[in-house]
Amino acid sequence: MPTGPSDALDPPSADSPSTAVADAESIALDRLTDLTSRVDSDSDARLDVFAPATTERIGSIPACDEADVASGIERAREAGTGWADRPVSERAAVLDRAADLLLDRRSALLDLLQLETGKSRRTAVEELFEVPLACEYAARDGPNAIVEDRRSAAIPGLSTATVTYEPVGVVGVISPWNYPLTLSVADAVPALLAGNAVVLKPDEKTPYTALALAEVLEDAGVPENVLTVITGEGPTVGPALIDGVDYVAFTGSTETGRTVAERAGRNLIDCSLELGGNNPLVVLDDADVDEAARGAVQTCFANAGQLCLAAERIYVVESAYEPFLDAFVRETERLTLGTGYDYDADIGSLIDADQLDRVRSHLDDARERGATVETGGRHRPDVGPYCYEPTVLTGVDPDATVACEETFGPVVSVTPVPDVDAAVTAANDSPYGLNASVWTRNRDRGARVAREIDCGTVSVNDGFLTGWAARDAPMGGFGDSGIGRRNGPEGVRRFTESRTVAVSRVGPVTFPDRIPTGWFVRGAFVATIVGRRVSKTVRRVTDGTVGRVKRRAFGRE
Ligand code: NAD
Repeated sequence: MPTGPSDALDPPSADSPSTAVADAESIALDRLTDLTSRVDSDSDARLDVFAPATTERIGSIPACDEADVASGIERAREAGTGWADRPVSERAAVLDRAADLLLDRRSALLDLLQLETGKSRRTAVEELFEVPLACEYAARDGPNAIVEDRRSAAIPGLSTATVTYEPVGVVGVISPWNYPLTLSVADAVPALLAGNAVVLKPDEKTPYTALALAEVLEDAGVPENVLTVITGEGPTVGPALIDGVDYVAFTGSTETGRTVAERAGRNLIDCSLELGGNNPLVVLDDADVDEAARGAVQTCFANAGQLCLAAERIYVVESAYEPFLDAFVRETERLTLGTGYDYDADIGSLIDADQLDRVRSHLDDARERGATVETGGRHRPDVGPYCYEPTVLTGVDPDATVACEETFGPVVSVTPVPDVDAAVTAANDSPYGLNASVWTRNRDRGARVAREIDCGTVSVNDGFLTGWAARDAPMGGFGDSGIGRRNGPEGVRRFTESRTVAVSRVGPVTFPDRIPTGWFVRGAFVATIVGRRVSKTVRRVTDGTVGRVKRRAFGRE
């Protein structure tokens, strides 16, 4: 049972794992209780929270009911007015400060992340880097996405059109357990920057990181209640939240995403849905197979495969198949499993028994349908109750569950394909479309193939980090992987209502009194037809010139 100094989560601390954290002993139970006291609830109901690495109960959180949710939203709405009135530069400075504070407290946050998710420290470090990325983008580029914008006017010279971006009000952020810090920050930070209050509902399995995040934001200067955390069961808190907020940013399974979208639709509020994936990784005939194998290992097994961007289907052009498979199996076998609070283990625990059952049942189904386990394929209770070996399958039936559905665990299939067209066809043969990667020595060829894959993000010669860390570029899913985009200007603007202010310098635009209407209409049509001819000619000339310049710049002429 974790015990230890009660200031274990206080700064300053280093990024090296604390020596006292074998079995998370530095995370004091009363510190977790402190964090829990941030949740305002009139209900006596509680939910236990367990450490996946040991199955021990580490604490309990309020199981908020509908009334708790409504009053949480009310508090956030009230506090949010002052926040929205501040200039965006001030809000950006506060968020920038939050990144510094979080980095100061990194060691304790890493401990906490590991404690409640069971992930390896390496994965926890990758997760923590989200914070400086998101806050830096919010501080540096975010404000540009929502500054007042002058647009083309209806009657150039005689009218103007200006767009302002107003905060929607209160944003509900619903986050999953696999990356509780990253996937709270990625939506909460841009929502706050845009001037909104946020009500954050973390997964009931991983509430403490979200509460620690709320504490850091408040210490950095986000006023009390502007970020309110509500804990409790998804099916109770989620719907009540969607009924009270002005926008919902949901990350989780496709199944829950559909119910969130339905409810948001009924309430006529906008939403972004970041959902599941069954992500392909394509190895072309000219790939550096050793590099591709190293990249594939990271892409398939990060966070024990419990990563929405993780590759679960690998397609290799035949001539590269054998060398790639050899290298991939070799690299996979070098991975170490463990639950320690140091950097020794590559892969940590699965989150719980349900996740373990899912992995096992997908694997049983694949085996029954004739798949070969090239490496892995075993539950490892000797390492941790939910630890599972990284597993590589070949000969997988295309109708097997593992091929068609998201496993969300350390299991991947490798399949040879005759050529690049077949690889693209196989990659696109999925209702999902979240993330993909293409491996080749020819980067231009890689980018061309990437454009044919129906996914929101496709990286060339990297699995997912290049795409994820490109903060100015949107990220999200095609098809069953979701609606809307996070990151980039799109990721900030989604949390605003745009308002167009159009000003006429010549009074009302209507039929004039002094000209007979028939004459005026005839004149208006003649002016429109002539205007369109002139406009088409100008476009032809400029497109030709600009197009030539662009083609030259990109070396295509
Ligand atoms: P989940 O859908 O079960 O839960 C996600 C969140 O929704 C949790 O906070 C949960 O409490 C809440 N919830 C549950 N029922 C709800 C309801 N009826 N209304 C509103 N909220 C409700 O998902 P999960 O199993 O926790 O997470 C894993 C899934 O998330 C995987 O499919 C994974 O691919 C996906 N995911 C997607 C992304 C992405 O960015 N696309 C990132 C991480 C995870």
